[in-house]
Amino acid sequence: SYSVGDATQKWDEKRREWLRVHPSFGGVDRILVVTGSQPSVCKNPVGDHLQLRLFKNKVDYCRIHGCDVFYNNVLLDPKGTGFWAKYPILKAAMVAHPEAEWIWWVDSDAIFTDMEFKLPLEKYKDHNLVVHGWWHMVKKQSWTSVNAGVLLIRNCQWSLDFIDEWASMGPQGPAQEKWGETQKSLLKDKLYPGSDDQSALIYLLLKQKQKWGDKVYLEGEYNFQSYWLGVVDGLDDITKGYMEVDRQVSKLRRRHAEKVSEFYGAMREQYMKEKGIWKENVRRPFMTHFTGCEPCSGEYNPDYTWEACWNGMQKALNFADNQVLRTYGFVHPDLLNSSLVSPLPFDFPA
Ligand code: UDP
Ligand code: MN
Repeated sequence: SYSVGDATQKWDEKRREWLRVHPSFGGVDRILVVTGSQPSVCKNPVGDHLQLRLFKNKVDYCRIHGCDVFYNNVLLDPKGTGFWAKYPILKAAMVAHPEAEWIWWVDSDAIFTDMEFKLPLEKYKDHNLVVHGWWHMVKKQSWTSVNAGVLLIRNCQWSLDFIDEWASMGPQGPAQEKWGETQKSLLKDKLYPGSDDQSALIYLLLKQKQKWGDKVYLEGEYNFQSYWLGVVDGLDDITKGYMEVDRQVSKLRRRHAEKVSEFYGAMREQYMKEKGIWKENVRRPFMTHFTGCEPCSGEYNPDYTWEACWNGMQKALNFADNQVLRTYGFVHPDLLNSSLVSPLPFDFPA
């Protein structure tokens, strides 16, 4: 059985054997993106429409970068609802996809907002779990020191064991209430009253650091995921900055065609710095996460207005979609107007 607590044994050997008899899958670190949503209809009438657009965004990223994608909308363990739903599916995905070196969980409410960015896998070669966060904040026992909504986990026995340990603090385990209290006393700024997976992860990083810590990479150098409130207002300016660079690049392309590909990624940043048009906030955030918006629930989150969440999501989705549509010759000129697109001008820099 795949259920949490029912550990698969000797997975590394089994997977190695599978790869040996399927040599065509060797040679590259394959990534399987796993995401999903609740089994039932969203209570908010626009929720399912948003889920569709959120999923389209992930499909676009996966197509561009050659990742596989699996969408799950069943509860493999009926007790594991909400953010606890991902743990049984992560384990099942590892076993179902021995060809995948990495499983990349992306919450449905997290949006790829830089379609060009590739994970720096080389940096993670000695680690098994990557999440956004900072060790110094973990040490300060802060609830926001990591975020568990986007995580990259290696397909190996360590991960299966880690997930068992992690999810045992949730509804799949025997002492969920006790864990809620333990987490609350450990993390003073924890908002959510019950046991949550983010707190459970911080607990393991603090209390079982010896056992697990050296295989966990807390990524704080780029926006592995970023909190939407700090992002959405800046998206229009980011578009302007990138367009300026594109214009310059297309001039250069005419002069030195061979060098242009280098202008993407790091070179673009370098170029913007040289021209004085670089500000720290002009880089596209890799991923924008609408934590707390809960578009499906039909309830208003008292922390934000529904309009703020809705407008923020439209902006982030259209910002990402513009990076896709430009190949097809179209653009959303107004990030808030999702239905309107216009053809790009004939001489638009590409
Ligand atoms: N989810 C799921 N099945 C469910 C409920 C939730 O797969 O039945 C996933 C969904 O992708 C969602 C994630 O769990 O994005 C975590 O929940 P949410 O994003 O609401 O938590 P938040 O990030 O707001 O804390
Ligand atoms: Mn989320």
